[in-house]
Amino acid sequence: MERAGVGLVKKADEIQNYIEQIIARRRRGSYFDYETCQEILEHAAEMNSDAIFGIGYYYFAEYYWNEDDNEKTMYCLGECTKCFRMVGMYEFLARSYNMMGAVSVHQDNLIVALNYYYTGLQYAEKYGLQYEHAMLDTNIGYILVLMRRYREAAERYEHALKLYEQSEDSYHYIFNLALVMTYSGICYLKLQYPDRAFALWDKLEKLQQEFPDRIFPEIDILIFQAECVAAHGTRDKLCECMDGILERLRGTKDIGKVGDCLLNIAELLWKFQEYERLDEFFRIIDARGLEKQLMLAMDLYSYRSTFLLHENRTEEYLQLTRSYFAAFEQDRQNNRQLTARVIELRDKLKSMTKEREQMLAYNKHLENIALYDSMTNLANRTFLNEYTSEKFGEAQRENKLLGVELLDIDSFKKYNDTYGHLMGDVCIEAVADILRSVCSEKVFCSRYGGDEFMIIYSDLSVEEIRQTVEEIQQRVRALAISHRTSECSDIVTVSQGVFVRRPEEMDREWDFNAQADIALYHAKRDGRNRCRIHTEYSQI
Ligand code: GH3
Ligand code: MG
Repeated sequence: MERAGVGLVKKADEIQNYIEQIIARRRRGSYFDYETCQEILEHAAEMNSDAIFGIGYYYFAEYYWNEDDNEKTMYCLGECTKCFRMVGMYEFLARSYNMMGAVSVHQDNLIVALNYYYTGLQYAEKYGLQYEHAMLDTNIGYILVLMRRYREAAERYEHALKLYEQSEDSYHYIFNLALVMTYSGICYLKLQYPDRAFALWDKLEKLQQEFPDRIFPEIDILIFQAECVAAHGTRDKLCECMDGILERLRGTKDIGKVGDCLLNIAELLWKFQEYERLDEFFRIIDARGLEKQLMLAMDLYSYRSTFLLHENRTEEYLQLTRSYFAAFEQDRQNNRQLTARVIELRDKLKSMTKEREQMLAYNKHLENIALYDSMTNLANRTFLNEYTSEKFGEAQRENKLLGVELLDIDSFKKYNDTYGHLMGDVCIEAVADILRSVCSEKVFCSRYGGDEFMIIYSDLSVEEIRQTVEEIQQRVRALAISHRTSECSDIVTVSQGVFVRRPEEMDREWDFNAQADIALYHAKRDGRNRCRIHTEYSQI
């Protein structure tokens, strides 16, 4: 017997279709806007679907990430990971952890970021998600770059490249591939392997030519190019590259997301003594404000302070140093607060997960109460009605045979009177046990009420139905439960009335129930302890 109603299966299909449609829409375009995300969540509530809730929150997280609202991004990611874990959507779960890592990097919290990335990696490994694995490797590689551990970073990127090559194409594939090539190239330049870097540059150029319509990590690629040019040592070309970079930085809304590349720019300009451009670069950064990213600001400080001293701009130098130390102190405070907040959030998450699990268990319990008879554990009338409508419609549409049986224990009132109500209950349970054992995809047994049971046979021949009916009859007799006051035997027996037919357009479910009742009446009238199978409509 199916554990849940057929209606629920239909609902699962509907949810799956909706999700596929949303994912396809997201692939085609850029981030969803606020209204679309809101719509998805509303649909999730309507369908009462955790999977759709997960998707809705995930796209909301993307939306807020794009809006630079770290706090809301993290909130949405917290919500969607709970849903994805519950419904087993591991690709999205790994991606959500990846995004949490990226937000944490953006907040200068590398330890927390690594924690998220490695959690994502665990899912990617466990479920063989190559694409997500590559994405996470790339991002861990980026943290290694931030820590100046270029060799380990390059190894990560190599691994990511291999995984991307093995995984299926997807919309973001080109962008991510380009990112891996760019950063492994930069690593090789730092490691003094220019040939490898130049080979990657050639590959990257080909990729850009091959996919001119796709989005590429522009500034990152330009910086890689500048690094390549610098390795060749041609100043003119470098200046040209740098002007391109500065131009693009002026138009970049969130300069912080360019991250560590900013350091490369300062380093190159300082190395090539391009002081005017360096000054301009610092001005662009100031105009955007990097207060939120202290680590980066502090890394830049060393170039900036050396530059100001070199230019004899003492007043500016002192001012910079003062603000640097103030920022440093602020960072210490922030770190303390952040640590406390992480602990608080982790604790909260733990208790929320527990609450949710309890709620799910309770829902299951409620579903059980709503659909099953507590005494026999067979389907109850509600479940029977839902199931019969579904199967009746199916048989009608597909011209299949449908059988409805009513089974009733013989002289049961007398059994109760003779042996007591408790023994009566045991008897009902014993019959129910037999029925439960004959349940299958095509045989659905339910307790109709009292000592009566209804069985639905779908898509079985009359002969197959007869065999099951007789098997039940025999097995109840084989229980050999004494019944000395029975009107038809000295043991407990049952009477069965079945109506089998291909439902036509004019037929209704209740016609079948009424006809099964007539067949049962005939079995009782003819002496009980027997079955009657009717295949034509009849009158009492
Ligand atoms: P017949 O052969 O014509 O079916 O005679 P019968 O005595 O079985 O008649 P009927 O089916 O009308 O009687 C059903 C009896 O089942 C009446 C009621 O006291 C008893 N009954 C209904 N539900 C329960 C139950 O949950 N437990 C017990 N022990 N008895 C029940
Ligand atoms: Mg009876």
